[in-house]
Amino acid sequence: DLLRTVVSQTTSAIEQILLQRELLRQSAEASRLAELNQLKSYFVSNVSHELQTPLTSIRIIAELLQSKKRISAKEKNEFLAVIEGESKRLSRLIDNVLDVSRIEQGLKRYHFSTHTLNDVLRDALASLDYQLKLNGFDVIVDIPKKSIKLNMDRDAMSQALVNLFSNSIKYSFKEKMLKVVVSQQDGYVDIRVSDRGIGIQPDDLPRIFETFYRSDDESIQSISGTGLGLTQIRHAVESHNGSITVDSVPGLGTTFLITLPARSV
Ligand code: ADP
Repeated sequence: DLLRTVVSQTTSAIEQILLQRELLRQSAEASRLAELNQLKSYFVSNVSHELQTPLTSIRIIAELLQSKKRISAKEKNEFLAVIEGESKRLSRLIDNVLDVSRIEQGLKRYHFSTHTLNDVLRDALASLDYQLKLNGFDVIVDIPKKSIKLNMDRDAMSQALVNLFSNSIKYSFKEKMLKVVVSQQDGYVDIRVSDRGIGIQPDDLPRIFETFYRSDDESIQSISGTGLGLTQIRHAVESHNGSITVDSVPGLGTTFLITLPARSV
């Protein structure tokens, strides 16, 4: 009888523990889903805001053109630069949304062929020329003279670099400096992208690569963004067998380091 009682009590104690564990799991899952839902609704309002800004600039230019009888060649070039720059910004946003959606569904494919890293970097910087000039950025580029050939998906890598550069532009207020340093050693290529912007708080650092994640910090929330850029960057870099790390000091700036294997091609 004693044995039966002990067995029955032990069984019910185990059942209770299992039940408690299941309740804890369900509650953790519920709060994870609630957080994801909140991030998604922030995302929808952020995307709408991000779409609105370039469209407003383009509309203002159209209204100016309608109201002006004569336009000088200088004005025409300025207007065209705004339209081009803002359209590129819209395309980047749409590319990121489509890309992360493919990544989340496991449908993102990369197409590799041989490209010169120097050209990809130069084109990525050129596509942000308008934003860099508009914000008065000092751009420092230190790339080895000898061209570095890599096996890569050119579009994806270029998108990743543009995303990194545009983050430096977005998150720098006082000191506006973008530095790109490329070095090569032991079969690896390092691409360092640094700025002297607001930096990243230690609490945010472990989460910045998560899809939709944006810091709660007021200075970050006041800047439009979708929380997709670093997801695209990390996926692209890792699909090239590379890695990305970040080093940041709040108030002083941030450096992202991309390391790619320099397989001979
Ligand atoms: P978004 O910039 O649209 O918010 P990202 O995925 O590109 O999304 O970046 C995620 C977060 O990482 C940003 O919200 C910001 O908090 C932080 N971050 C990324 N790059 C920088 C940078 N260069 N300086 C400061 N913070 C950055």
